Amino acid sequence: MPRLRPRALAAALCILTCAPAFAAEPAAAADPTAVAAQAARVREQVVAWRRDIHQHPELGQHEVRTAKLIAEHLRKLGLQPRTGIAHTGVVAVLKGGRPGPRIAIRADMDALPVTEPAGLPFASRVTADYRGQPVGVMHACGHDAHVAIALGVATALAAQRETLPGEVMFVFQPAEEGPPVAGEPFGAKLMLDQGVFAQFKPEAVFGLHVWAGLGVGEIGYRSGPMLASADEWSLLVRGKQTHGSRPWDGVDPITVGAQILLASQSLIARQINIAATPVVLTAGQFHSGVRFNIIPDEARLVGTLRTFDPAVREDVIARLRRTAEDLAHAAGASAELQVVNNAPATVNDAALTRRVLPSLQRAAGAERVRESALVTVAEDFSQFANTVPGFYFFVGSTAPGIDPAKAPINHSPQFMLDEGALEVGTRAMLQVALDYLHGA
Ligand SMILES: [Zn+2]
Ligand SMILES: [Zn+2]
Repeated sequence: MPRLRPRALAAALCILTCAPAFAAEPAAAADPTAVAAQAARVREQVVAWRRDIHQHPELGQHEVRTAKLIAEHLRKLGLQPRTGIAHTGVVAVLKGGRPGPRIAIRADMDALPVTEPAGLPFASRVTADYRGQPVGVMHACGHDAHVAIALGVATALAAQRETLPGEVMFVFQPAEEGPPVAGEPFGAKLMLDQGVFAQFKPEAVFGLHVWAGLGVGEIGYRSGPMLASADEWSLLVRGKQTHGSRPWDGVDPITVGAQILLASQSLIARQINIAATPVVLTAGQFHSGVRFNIIPDEARLVGTLRTFDPAVREDVIARLRRTAEDLAHAAGASAELQVVNNAPATVNDAALTRRVLPSLQRAAGAERVRESALVTVAEDFSQFANTVPGFYFFVGSTAPGIDPAKAPINHSPQFMLDEGALEVGTRAMLQVALDYLHGA
């Protein structure tokens, strides 16, 4: 080791001892009262956006009006939104006046093929074609609130951009509920495939969901797996057509399909360690035949598989395939299983969760931030969170006086968002973003 001269030695010591003084200002969490005031300033606008978008819902990949509203407002804030990503997605980066980290905030934009009951003055009366069927269209999952909250957060952050450290990418994502054509990628995957995190790679991505299972004012989170992976599986059983009165002349695919369906439930109950991680295997469709006295050639079962662990997912799929093929083989039929993953499990990064939890507690009050149980619905936010560390949380949306355990859940036509959730969501996301950007 070379000997250091006194000045060099002093400099070397200073590197060890003085470095924090040269670094960015000491990390400080944003004052929650100030954050609450910022959220309150955009409250009326956020409510107005949410009502406007609620009244004009659009299905996945058709969020044209919603995307236009978003892009126009982002331009008013002085941002330069990129549009048309993954068909209708919008992305914009807010650059703070000081150096700092890069983060992303994601909001999904699409509505569901659900008919909204009359009642709200801004209820949707929109209809559309969904996979060949005429349907009503409703923001029954609350993505209208997500867009409004993200625009509110963008507005509040833009108002303080000179003093803001770092950069924030706002990601407005289409088709979270799925594309118009079955089998095509969902919105998040398509946005990533189109390079949305290629030039601007955030060090953390944040997302939220309004949630009927929590009362307004409450926030739910979970470290590690939180929402399930969702696979769409399709099983084709091939038999041999014959007269319904003479089954021995053919091979009955309906009976074989029924055996496979029941065996698939035994498989979960008897072969999978559900004490370690939950698994749900559901058939939602069972199609076969055209007439009462004809045993058809084929039967098709279509369903969903929900898991929280990639290895368990692989194992269940392998066991389902083996069960289907062997039962079909025993009857002289054949079975072919296809599985498409619509969304991986949403897993909150453990270190990021530890860092962000105090921000949620500052925003909502520690006693109102609850650890969530595992939830078997899925979210393609997971695609972003599998690319960079992610954190996702629930914002309670059930009105006071209603038991959240009994409130109609997201996707129900009776799903009813208490608009108080808009301010809580804005405040929470704003606190999370500001604390992270300021290094807290
Ligand atoms: Zn949904
Ligand atoms: Zn949703």
